[in-house]
Amino acid sequence: MSVTYSIIAPIYNEFENIPNLYKRVRDVMDSANEPWELVLVDDGSSDGSTERIRELAQQHKNVRPVIFARNFGHQIAVTAGLDYARGKAIVIIDADLQDPPEVILELIEKWKEGYEVVYAVRSEREGESWFKLLTASLFYRLIYRITDVKIPLDTGDFRLLDRKIVNVMNSMREKHRFLRGMSSWIGFKQIGVQYKRAARTAGVTKYPLKKMLKLALNAITGFSYFPLQVATYFGFFSAGLAILAIPIVAALRLAGSQFFEGQTTTLISVLFLGGVQLISLGILGEYIGRIYDEVKGRPLYVARDVPAAEEDDSVRHSAQ
Ligand code: UDP
Ligand code: MG
Repeated sequence: MSVTYSIIAPIYNEFENIPNLYKRVRDVMDSANEPWELVLVDDGSSDGSTERIRELAQQHKNVRPVIFARNFGHQIAVTAGLDYARGKAIVIIDADLQDPPEVILELIEKWKEGYEVVYAVRSEREGESWFKLLTASLFYRLIYRITDVKIPLDTGDFRLLDRKIVNVMNSMREKHRFLRGMSSWIGFKQIGVQYKRAARTAGVTKYPLKKMLKLALNAITGFSYFPLQVATYFGFFSAGLAILAIPIVAALRLAGSQFFEGQTTTLISVLFLGGVQLISLGILGEYIGRIYDEVKGRPLYVARDVPAAEEDDSVRHSAQ
C-alpha cells in the first residue's frame, strides 16, 4: 500500500491524549482523501501509553507503533518516526494536541503548491506559564542570532516535510539532534504558516527546564562555533589590556606610586582570568563530549518493537 501522508507523534506518558489524538488526526486526514498513516513513537512511557498505542494499532491498520526500550528524548523519538514513515509528505506533530491537527490541511496546501518544508509558526500560545513563554522566546531569539543557519523564530517541530527532505534527514545520523535546525540546513523551498498554539488537552509538560537547556545546547553546538570563538575574543581582549597596563603600572611604580600595592588587584585578576579559563574549558568540554558521543557510534535509539517491513500487496494477492 502506498501512503501519501505520514503523521508522526512522539509520545512520552500521554495516556489521556492518545484516543483524542487519533480521533482528531483521523477526522482531518480522512478529509484529505489520500491514504495516510499515523506513526506513534512510544518514548519509554510508564503510564500505560504503550498498551494504548498497541491497542490502537490492532484496531486500525494505519496506526504504526514504534516502541522504545527506554526514554531517549523527544528529538530522537521524532527521528525514529521519520525512519519508519513511508509517506510522500511527512508531518511531525505533538501528541498533546497543542499543535491542532486541523492545521495539517494548510500545511498540505502549501506542499501541493511546491514547498518542500512547510513549518508552522506560533502566532499565539494558549495556557502556557509566563516562565515557559519567556524562556521559549529567549531560546528562539538566541538560537536565531548565534547559529549559522537561519532557523525561523517561534517555530517548533510541527511541520510538513517532503520525502526528499526526510531522505536527507535520515542520512544525517548525528547523535545530538536539533531537527528544526537540520531541516533548515537542508534548504529547498521552505515557507511558514501561522497558527495558534493551543493549551495541552491533558497532562503536564514533559519538557522541564533541564530538557529545554539540553535542547538549547544541542541547537547551539550543533549549528555554531561561536561559543568556541568567544574564548579567542576574550584572550585577545585580556592580552591587549595587559600590553596597555604593563607600561602604565611600571611607570607609576617607578614614579613611587603606592596605587598598585597589595594583593587585591592580583587576587581580582587571578580569579577573573581563572573563571574565564574554566568557562572556556567547559565550553570546549561541551563540544568534546559531543565528539565523543559521535565517535562511539552507538545507535540513536533502541526499540523493542518497530512496524513490520512494508508489505507488498501484489505479492500477497498472488499468494491468495
Ligand atoms: N516527548 C517525548 N519524549 C520526551 C519528552 C517529550 O516523546 O522525553 C513528547 C511529548 O509526549 C509530546 C511532545 O514530545 O508529544 C512535546 O512535549 P511537551 O508537550 O511535553 O513539550 P512542550 O509542549 O511543553 O514544550
Ligand atoms: Mg506540549
